[in-house]
Amino acid sequence: MASTATILAGNLALVRRRIDTACLRSGREGDAIRLVAVTKYARLDWVRELIGLGVADLGESRPQQLIERAEALGEPVRWHLVGHLQRNKVRKVLPLAACIHSVDSWKLLERIDLLSAELGLRPDVLLEVNVSAEAAKDGFAVDALADGWPQAARCRHVRVAGLMTMAPLQDDPEHARPVFRRLRELRDELSARPPALALPELSMGMSHDFDVAIEEGATMIRVGSDLFAGLAEAGAHGAAR
Ligand SMILES: *Cc1c(COP(=O)(O)O)cnc(C)c1O
Repeated sequence: MASTATILAGNLALVRRRIDTACLRSGREGDAIRLVAVTKYARLDWVRELIGLGVADLGESRPQQLIERAEALGEPVRWHLVGHLQRNKVRKVLPLAACIHSVDSWKLLERIDLLSAELGLRPDVLLEVNVSAEAAKDGFAVDALADGWPQAARCRHVRVAGLMTMAPLQDDPEHARPVFRRLRELRDELSARPPALALPELSMGMSHDFDVAIEEGATMIRVGSDLFAGLAEAGAHGAAR
């Protein structure tokens, strides 16, 4: 039976090949793309193996799990929070997260800025945009982001580094393309306005659609299920936990 390490290495190689292929197709450099491994469904021993394979950027969607895993792993991991952040969790998450992808209101941004000042931190944050305007989804409406834009510049301690979105779940990843393209155009529009914020980062693309996201300009892709595929089925056990 294949070991956890063998399966993970194979999955990672496949993901990296897809990244390279998408970069080649769109004339981009492979090292312009940061792979964030989303570990929300992965066992801790799988995550350890993945770190051993050289993946340094890990993402969690629940603040509590990010906090627990950051403590358990204690390794030089760059943590990304990719899911909703409640304002009462900001103080605990801030010292642990290198990047918060999911800032979905001006109030939350203000809170993060305030506590960053207090804690002497300078985190990167991304503003999450509900490009497809789905009712059940978090994130700024496109108009609300544009209208409230001056508030992004009021931050003194946080670096607003870019935008994040999730495409609706669909069978054909091509259907995600207009959503990703719109996020890039929105970034271009916003960064051209005063106050000039560069907004270099676009966090978009998951297992199912990251190839298309890279073609549309993603700088960070958030990949979970394709990295950990086959592990539960194989009953794969790692070395000691
Ligand atoms: C779970 C999750 C991902 C990863 O999705 P996969 O389809 O498993 O690759 C990416 N982004 C966010 C916000 C998530 O919650």
